[in-house]
Amino acid sequence: MTTPADRPPSVDTLARRLAEHSSLPHPMLVDAARTAIADGGRFDEAFELARNLERSLLTPVVNATGVLLHTNLGRAPLAHSQAARAQTVEFDLATGERGSRQRAVGQLFARLCGAEDAIVVNNNASAVLLVLAALAEGQDVAVSRGESVEIGGAFRVPEVMEQSGARLVDVGTTNRTRLSDYERAIERPDTDVALVLKVHPSNYRVEGFVEDTPVAQLATLDVPVVADIGSGLIDATVPWMKGAPPAWLNGEPAAVQTIADGADLITFSGDKLLGGPQAGIIAGRRDLVQRCARHPLARALRCGGLVLAALQDVALSYLHKTVCDDLAFWRMVAQSPDALRARADAIVGAAGVGGVVDTEALPGAGSAPGITMPSIGVAVDGDRLAELRSFDPPIIARTRDGRTTLDLRSVDPADDPHLIDALGQL
Ligand SMILES: *Cc1c(COP(=O)(O)O)cnc(C)c1O
Repeated sequence: MTTPADRPPSVDTLARRLAEHSSLPHPMLVDAARTAIADGGRFDEAFELARNLERSLLTPVVNATGVLLHTNLGRAPLAHSQAARAQTVEFDLATGERGSRQRAVGQLFARLCGAEDAIVVNNNASAVLLVLAALAEGQDVAVSRGESVEIGGAFRVPEVMEQSGARLVDVGTTNRTRLSDYERAIERPDTDVALVLKVHPSNYRVEGFVEDTPVAQLATLDVPVVADIGSGLIDATVPWMKGAPPAWLNGEPAAVQTIADGADLITFSGDKLLGGPQAGIIAGRRDLVQRCARHPLARALRCGGLVLAALQDVALSYLHKTVCDDLAFWRMVAQSPDALRARADAIVGAAGVGGVVDTEALPGAGSAPGITMPSIGVAVDGDRLAELRSFDPPIIARTRDGRTTLDLRSVDPADDPHLIDALGQL
């Protein structure tokens, strides 16, 4: 499909030919055509460039990795739609006057967490930054040496602390920190401790001779306790699921219990175990929440109406206990191994390739590190990852021991026909 070497096609001609195969807008096809012509003018090179450009755009994919909250795939998948209508983002319907952007969603999260008040910001990193800046700027914050951690995506406690203008005071040792260590740090004449920050070391686990100080004990200290619980599990008893809480949630700190234990504030992400959009939630004592809301950084870190509306829907699903119907993450969690096996059998039968295998799915996003949940997959021989990524929508899978596995727990059953189709074409 090359053009004669003596007469390269014009940029425009080539861009028009590309348009027959690509949905990219004309200026991007012109870029691809221009690059290809500078390189000799081959159509197939231009076509490849256009395809790569197209694939560099945000693309919905089928997540068959078995990592339910895949950070590279946007963490919690969430369906949300809303009309192109004005909404009461900062408008009080009762008075007709300007209202608070935080009121609608804040009151729902406060209710959900059993807290006096709540606000939401861009993500949990923002939430921690805002809390530290609003409550401890120019003062000290006591953090256990075992919790001065880095959590994926370059969230590092000492660095967030530095950005906030608060000073970090290390407490205890890497493996053990007791209440008396905090007391000593607060009473030391050279410190001015504004609060204690407890950080859930989400993405790793230390085992052996380890001890941390629970929130219930920290709550006896003379300064406010802020707990960054990370993943946004709302309630450790998981009242929105039938039966006992899943075993893999054991030890994951939850909002309701952390507040009940006496945390003055908690912070967590919207798009991890909560199952919602990217956001950070700050909940707890009203006076402290309001100091955060009034800080100038709150304006820079605020969410827009789209995220607020999605978060409101998520909070309402929890309050209605319809989480396992409404939120894709909890739908994946709630699937029984039997249901997954039936899907796998049907897929292998219809595609005529592959075999049904037992797999282990992961919550992901640094939640419940090292813990897996039983799952079922379809495995085919060889490394077929690139081939699977070339389908529309692309399928993202994993390889192990020379086989490619599509884990069904992270796949919406509505996508099973697509898997059958793709596997059949491999
Ligand atoms: C994930 C996590 C963060 C960062 O949250 P983002 O929403 O990604 O900004 C901070 N702290 C803890 C404990 C976490 O688990």
